[in-house]
Amino acid sequence: MQTSLLEKYKATELGAKAENILRKCVHCGFCLATCPTYDLLGSELDSPRGRIYQIKQVLEGVEPSQKTQLHLDRCLTCRNCETTCPSGVEYGHLVDAGRAIVEESVPRSFAQRSLRKAMRTFLPYSNRIGPLVKLGQTFSGILPKTIKSHIPPRQQAGEWPAATHDRRMLVLDGCVQPSMAPAINASAARVLDRLNISLVKAPKAGCCGAVSFHLNAQEEGKNFAKANIDAWWPEIDAGAEAIVMTASGCGVFVKDYQDLLKDDPQYADKAKKITELCKDISEVIAEEEKNNPEIGKLKSDQAESLAFHPPCTLQHGQKQLGTTEALLQRLGFNLVPVKDAHFCCGSAGTYSITQKTLSQKLLTRKIASLLKNKPAKIATANIGCLLHLQSAAGNTPVVHWVQLVDESMPKTS
Ligand code: SF4
Ligand code: SF4
Repeated sequence: MQTSLLEKYKATELGAKAENILRKCVHCGFCLATCPTYDLLGSELDSPRGRIYQIKQVLEGVEPSQKTQLHLDRCLTCRNCETTCPSGVEYGHLVDAGRAIVEESVPRSFAQRSLRKAMRTFLPYSNRIGPLVKLGQTFSGILPKTIKSHIPPRQQAGEWPAATHDRRMLVLDGCVQPSMAPAINASAARVLDRLNISLVKAPKAGCCGAVSFHLNAQEEGKNFAKANIDAWWPEIDAGAEAIVMTASGCGVFVKDYQDLLKDDPQYADKAKKITELCKDISEVIAEEEKNNPEIGKLKSDQAESLAFHPPCTLQHGQKQLGTTEALLQRLGFNLVPVKDAHFCCGSAGTYSITQKTLSQKLLTRKIASLLKNKPAKIATANIGCLLHLQSAAGNTPVVHWVQLVDESMPKTS
């Protein structure tokens, strides 16, 4: 589409980026069919095409209002529309830019500012969120049901294998996952250990930056990214082959470090390297299938049925459509069909907190699809989706799939 951006935006990094993306959109509307918020609300303003148009208007001089901000806030950033778009519109980058520009001129209410500040103050720091989670686990008996359902019981991580192999990979511990589900990364370490790969942590690495960035504290998000690069660099210099992600929400953001820091003279080259090295755990194992003689140790025959929920950050963000499902089948898991697997579960980072009603509607729909064929377990690939699904899955356990691979491996003596 043709654009005529205000000079003040044309001259900025964000404006230039948005203009490039806007020009690719031909307004065909194919993306509407797969947008969860359009599906729920039926309004063009809550569709990808409608949001693209609103961002274009703002960049061309129309004053944004609280309504504009609301329609952008309601977007899950699931990027389902990117998967559907025949013109390659990078909607995710566009909505990030649009939100940042709207945020500058539309003030938020005190309640919204406080909630956003609280999320930015606690969620990205494992040493702050960790004690709160422990407190919640200790007093779960007296917590209201809605809060209790989001706090998983205490979990034993099990042993982390010693780093004895020549081949090493880094893993991101992240912010929320170590306290909510410490067994996920320990399982990944045991699985890779069977493939003669040592999984190591960089103690100073922390939140990937996505929480701050998607709450429109974009510089804060970039600072998290730079801190991680500094923390990882000594291991990369020492030959770490990959940076493994077990949370696809973090993975999609770390894979974007190259774009995020491309104009930073100090970090641009390093960020590019990080993007090249960043891999979801499913990609790492699928790659090892090609020539690692130990791969057979991960295979088993599973009678139990499994419903897999592919996070949007994996299938639409990282463009890993079907990678994990195919891998699990090759490893011997018995996957049941799940209707509308391309649709978001409503977790979407902090969306389940900021847009509760829409989030719960999507959750109800997703749980019904996942449980339809009565699976013994539900598996996913992102801590946010896992906790969100767990809050509504009743007696059906929800786990990260790598935990199932870990559990199914014959134990070594
Ligand atoms: S984003 Fe893509 S699918 Fe949607 S209207 Fe634009 S060109 Fe069409
Ligand atoms: S990112 Fe998801 S919610 Fe947002 S416009 Fe695209 S499909 Fe709709």
